[in-house]
Amino acid sequence: MTTGGGTATIRAEMPPFIDAHVHANNRSSEDFRRLAAAGCAGVVAVAGEEGGFSLPESVLDHFRRLARVDRPRLQAAGVKCWLALGVHPRGIPARQAEELWPRLPAIWRELVADAVGEVGLEDDSPAERRALLEQLRLADQEKLPVIVHTPRRHKAMRLRTTLEILADSGIAPERVCLDHLDEDTLEPAADSGCWLGLTVHPAKLSPARVAGLVASRGGARIIVSSDLGANPSYLFGVPAAEQAMREMGLDEQDIRAAVHDNAAGFMDRPT
Ligand SMILES: [Zn+2]
Repeated sequence: MTTGGGTATIRAEMPPFIDAHVHANNRSSEDFRRLAAAGCAGVVAVAGEEGGFSLPESVLDHFRRLARVDRPRLQAAGVKCWLALGVHPRGIPARQAEELWPRLPAIWRELVADAVGEVGLEDDSPAERRALLEQLRLADQEKLPVIVHTPRRHKAMRLRTTLEILADSGIAPERVCLDHLDEDTLEPAADSGCWLGLTVHPAKLSPARVAGLVASRGGARIIVSSDLGANPSYLFGVPAAEQAMREMGLDEQDIRAAVHDNAAGFMDRPT
């Protein structure tokens, strides 16, 4: 199997997988049908940065599009859609950001959000710290799970700061997935008690690296995703990681946990 194109008939007899981090507004309905044919049972459609937003209302319009356009497109393709609505560090509005935070709980309820995300630190500016802390507190108050991204640059250092902000917020670690982890950050993230996101992506982890990381500590709390979006990404990243794990001889239970069961457990956890 490839990570990109091609047909997916090879998966006809395979159990379903979940892709836990997808920027659905940047992908076509045809992609969703191909995912469904490949055995994708569900995706977590996360809000993103979209090149930046000028005002709070622009962020809310992005959320509305995901809920009213992209979630129905996924459902029409036969893929369950959990919706994660949050303000990405690069999506903090340039003006009036402080007016956005108090509006989040109402829009989450109105659009029936399943989670908050993706949120996190990119450059670790005061505005980013404030946005992360505020959203963690609100997510805790609303009893929603949160997808927290770790950036490409200074990943280990930003993870340490992120963990301090998580502690300040008071949110329970089992309500948080720390995403885009790598060889340097998986263990410190695991010590926090949070869920552990691994991303199969040309600019992040190869399927073989994901398999190696799962082999190093087992499938407990691991959640594999693709970060599908506008940039080059692997439509079949999760099944490619699944195949790499199988070729590496990993325990079937660990594989199922990493590509399906943990994502479902994280998103459907009782409040
Ligand atoms: Zn993303």
